[in-house]
Amino acid sequence: MKRRRTRRFALLAPVLAAVAALAAPAGAQERPAGARARGASAAWAVAHEPGPAGLAGASRPRFEAPDTAGTRWYKGNTHTHTLESDGDSPPEVVARWYRDHGYDFLVLSDHNVFTDPAALEHLVDSTFLLIPGEELTSSFERSPVHVNGLNLPHVVEARRGSTLVGTVQANVDAVREVEGVPHINHPNFGWALPYEVLAQVRNDRLLEIHNGHPTVHNEGGGDSPGMEEVWDRLLTGGKRIYGIAVDDAHHFQGEFSRDRANPGRGWVAVRARALEPVAIMDALEAGRFYASTGVELDDVVVSPARLEVHIRQRGDFKYTTEFIGGGGRVLARTGANPAVFELAAAEPYVRARVRDSGGAMAWVQPVWVVGPKEDGGAR
Ligand SMILES: [Zn+2]
Ligand SMILES: [Zn+2]
Repeated sequence: MKRRRTRRFALLAPVLAAVAALAAPAGAQERPAGARARGASAAWAVAHEPGPAGLAGASRPRFEAPDTAGTRWYKGNTHTHTLESDGDSPPEVVARWYRDHGYDFLVLSDHNVFTDPAALEHLVDSTFLLIPGEELTSSFERSPVHVNGLNLPHVVEARRGSTLVGTVQANVDAVREVEGVPHINHPNFGWALPYEVLAQVRNDRLLEIHNGHPTVHNEGGGDSPGMEEVWDRLLTGGKRIYGIAVDDAHHFQGEFSRDRANPGRGWVAVRARALEPVAIMDALEAGRFYASTGVELDDVVVSPARLEVHIRQRGDFKYTTEFIGGGGRVLARTGANPAVFELAAAEPYVRARVRDSGGAMAWVQPVWVVGPKEDGGAR
């Protein structure tokens, strides 16, 4: 049953040592002090200027409604570890945990190791899919650079560039070169990848805004923004990037506690036409999904002037939904279910965030707004 290859462990030892060494916070002094302020103000300024989709024209701004015909929702996690790198359980145990807990798909993403789902074929059926992947684990100076590759054909060697941005880009490119889908992991881990870095990366569509590992600083703190604020800055600056929630689980044995990397903390629910890798990848990269730490949705309905979020009622929980536009501004807040937002003014995008009365969240992906003169022209 255990098809462990000792060769992998030999190769992995220096990698794990490097990962452990990188866990120490990176020196903030490595970045020019003025860079953050300049980049931030430039991006946020966009929000305060009238958008191209002004209300003066004959037609009004409207949502770019996705085509959802023939789709259904699939729950999955795209980031988790096994004994093939620094997890505490064999791939079989990890995959079974997700299958037994109602997930439809899973990516095993070990550090610089390709944990081949072909060895776990007996767990796969019409209701559970394993998508091959890897966490390309690199660094620049003291900053960890971790980029997941989803739907990979084989192991992809992590790369280093001559700059921090270049290192992130090199790993994104390495994943694209084999037609995989990259996502940039836990940017606040080691405070490594601030807004200014993420804004310069190209050909990436997915960013971890919530990672279940206890030391990755999702919420930011001090002078460092949380991942939602960074995400809004990127969106406001015109980058089409979608926010995912993941487990980054390492610990399936023993106690489940706040300071361990246990499973079940962050996931995505993807609206796809089939439970197969390409359909799931296409839906993720088109933003046809929501991310969650516990709130489940029955549906997200987008029409030209309306965004509806239908929340799955759990017990006597209450829900607060905020609709967020350019610059991260809260445009509306409601306790109703479904939560409904009517588009009345130009915004670059509108996204929704649902929080339940226990603190669990769901993040609906941004819906782009097109103006009277442009049809899907935004990039
Ligand atoms: Zn990582
Ligand atoms: Zn990881």
